[in-house]
Amino acid sequence: MTNSFIELDGSHGEGGGQILRSALSLSMITGIPFRIERIRAKRQKPGLLRQHLTAVNAAAQICGAQLKGAEPGSLQLEFVPGPIQGGQYQHAIGSAGSCTLVLQTVLPALWFANTPSSFTINGGTHNPAAPPADFLQAAWLPLLRRMGIDMKLEVLRHGFYPAGGGGLRVELTPVQALQPLHLQSQGRPKSAHATAIVAAVTNNVAQRELLTLQDELSSELGEIGRVVRALSSREGPGNALLLALDYGDFHEVFTAFGEKGIAAEKVASDLAQEVRQHLASGVNVGEYLADQLLLPMALAGGGSFATSVASDHLRTNIAVIEKFLEVEIDVKPIDSAYYVSIIGEAWRYNGMTQ
Ligand code: AMP
Repeated sequence: MTNSFIELDGSHGEGGGQILRSALSLSMITGIPFRIERIRAKRQKPGLLRQHLTAVNAAAQICGAQLKGAEPGSLQLEFVPGPIQGGQYQHAIGSAGSCTLVLQTVLPALWFANTPSSFTINGGTHNPAAPPADFLQAAWLPLLRRMGIDMKLEVLRHGFYPAGGGGLRVELTPVQALQPLHLQSQGRPKSAHATAIVAAVTNNVAQRELLTLQDELSSELGEIGRVVRALSSREGPGNALLLALDYGDFHEVFTAFGEKGIAAEKVASDLAQEVRQHLASGVNVGEYLADQLLLPMALAGGGSFATSVASDHLRTNIAVIEKFLEVEIDVKPIDSAYYVSIIGEAWRYNGMTQ
């Protein structure tokens, strides 16, 4: 029996790439085909860019999918998945497009494959408007490990926008089913650690960023651990400033990027402002981690957390997930935060092999 197509409108909600990425992950896992129109309609350059096309092609390779519309700039795509096949995969975006977003598209399917997998991807590793590789390593991956996923991520080479040229490799062992995850909703961070990454940018920039961050956040966080990660200039030019908050049971990570013509102090000050807002909310899951926890929690059939912002990304992702899975995702405003809870059936490995 063939499943009927799920129809998606890429202009819905926040109207970006996440609708497509979540649909690809869920279609591969559930075996339900989908059609999407108006892909990334609300972005400046709508349609499939290199990063999205790489995600589509990688997803299609992993499950032997039939594709229509997988072309640069395409506003429509039809994706008919086959059985997921674990193995060794390697893809290159061919621009500074985000490697982490491609990984987040294909990894959920490989969690439910028939064999262990490794996935290597080349492109940008530290991009604005995407999770930096450090965010996946420090915030996202440890939570997935608690849900039972044995997965490690290695940065082979850093790649910054606009040059790209970075590389990431993930190795993972599949699972039968994920464990639900319920995160404590409150608590002050136990400690904070800042990392200034510089490649073909002077160490002085990194030092000024770290000192400004410390000055601005002293009253909220006390002494912040401070490290400079000075990379070979061949990996640059690039500068990212990261702040990790240790909540005991997990880490949140906030990021700002240096840009030519913007003072190091301004980069750090903007990051401090974002972190102050997060701390003032009194809850510990930030806006970005929130939308990235939904899919694993939905596959686990259970999860909950409180977050400071119910972003358009969060709500749009919920709408896509609820089309593919038998789960109910509830977002309740409580005081100045939002309590997100997920209840449903855990997805189980269906034993399909090619
Ligand atoms: P889209 O705009 O649809 O391509 O989705 C962007 C994705 O990147 C979302 O899942 C965001 O949560 C994530 N993201 C954007 N900025 C950051 C950041 N600074 N740290 C972590 N994740 C981020």
